[in-house]
Amino acid sequence: MKLTFAGAAQTVTGSQTLFEHQGFAGLVDCGLYQGPKPLRLLNWNKPEFYERVRAILLTHAHIDHSGLLPRWSSWGYKGPVYCTKPTAELLQIMLRDAAHLQEEDAKYANRSKYSHHDPALPLYTVEDAEAILRRVVPVELDHWHELSSELKFRFLRAGHILGSAVVQLSVKTENGERLVTFSGDLGGGRSELLKDPELVLDSDALVLESTYGNRKIDSVGREDRLAEIVRKVHARQGSLIIPAFALGRTQDLLLSLFRLWRDKKIPDLPVYLDSPMATKVTEIYARHRREFWPNEQADEIIQALNSGWFKVIESPDDSMFLCVSLEPKIVISASGMLQGGRVLHHLKQALPRKENAVLFVGFQGAQTKGRLLLEGLLSLRIHHQEIPVEAEILYLDGFSAHADQNDLLDWLRQFHRKPRQIILNHGEIESMKIFAQLIEKEFGLQPKLPLLNEEVLIEGT
Ligand SMILES: [Zn+2]
Repeated sequence: MKLTFAGAAQTVTGSQTLFEHQGFAGLVDCGLYQGPKPLRLLNWNKPEFYERVRAILLTHAHIDHSGLLPRWSSWGYKGPVYCTKPTAELLQIMLRDAAHLQEEDAKYANRSKYSHHDPALPLYTVEDAEAILRRVVPVELDHWHELSSELKFRFLRAGHILGSAVVQLSVKTENGERLVTFSGDLGGGRSELLKDPELVLDSDALVLESTYGNRKIDSVGREDRLAEIVRKVHARQGSLIIPAFALGRTQDLLLSLFRLWRDKKIPDLPVYLDSPMATKVTEIYARHRREFWPNEQADEIIQALNSGWFKVIESPDDSMFLCVSLEPKIVISASGMLQGGRVLHHLKQALPRKENAVLFVGFQGAQTKGRLLLEGLLSLRIHHQEIPVEAEILYLDGFSAHADQNDLLDWLRQFHRKPRQIILNHGEIESMKIFAQLIEKEFGLQPKLPLLNEEVLIEGT
């Protein structure tokens, strides 16, 4: 079997790996590049292997793993897109929203004439998203499914976000069966909501994510630290704005805030969810009890995710009213790195007042507005306006949905039969190098860190 690393090679977005064996070609993930422009431009390239791909296997619904699917449908891809059932439901929201944003961006570029292309075209349209959504085939976890006479695959629970899965390929060779495993994004087993990642006991080769290969995340006491922040901001009659990713982070936050509110560890102040996408995603989460920790804990999670104790803001008008109201409150809104969305309107009102606070609960990418605020910028440009920053800017570690360095190593330690070949992807190069050294020291094998479009042969296949 040959793998080609067509994305997320020494970077953290655009996940896409081609696998080829005995005339069959397929993809694991079909992710959008996000971040700096040189990366985003890669989304436009049609790969030379496009014609050969006969199936796409999706690890989860985050856009950096699924957001290029409508582009593939615009090229005419008509094969199946396999994923778990919750992922199939989440894709309905994520891909339509991504396509809508692409159309809006193109319209905006045409109105303001900032594009060099005339007229500016969207990367893909809502119609492309609808077309690929019709190709989605949901499958059960833990069952083998045939791709060809020599190849089959299965999904195993990854515990990263709802529906996320590890992909395993079983490859028939002259010397018997070989297993090739793709971790996708792994959860750290610290989610209070989702069950732990499944142990993978056996694999000949492993493609492993390395997002936090150089970091340890301190999640102990994160709820108490959150309570402290809420009490502090409330004591000075301020509002707390929490920018959060709609899929994953928002639901973790709702659970923590619910517990704190129920146990009276924070004052009884209104909590608003002001992100239509996060609201829809939260509704899907609440329908998948089987994915949560069992019994009483699942009851608590369902309660936390059902609005009643928090308020959902639907219309843009209501969102605007909320922005200008001075009542002390907590607002969870997207996007998580301030790249767009309703949270920017909240910040325009909240940033100039020193009683308020902005709380980041996730990694802020280079050159994002979120990163600039954390670096102590005195004013921030939002919608062509310079907004002074008087509010307190805070960061809370521990809500990450990614496995950290220890979690990744622990996951590797539990393999009964250790992979003989490890290939790292989905990480920045500094992080990968540090992580590769740790793997070499403990397991005595040197992981490969492929470059973009580098081909890697799987030994023994
Ligand atoms: Zn992810």
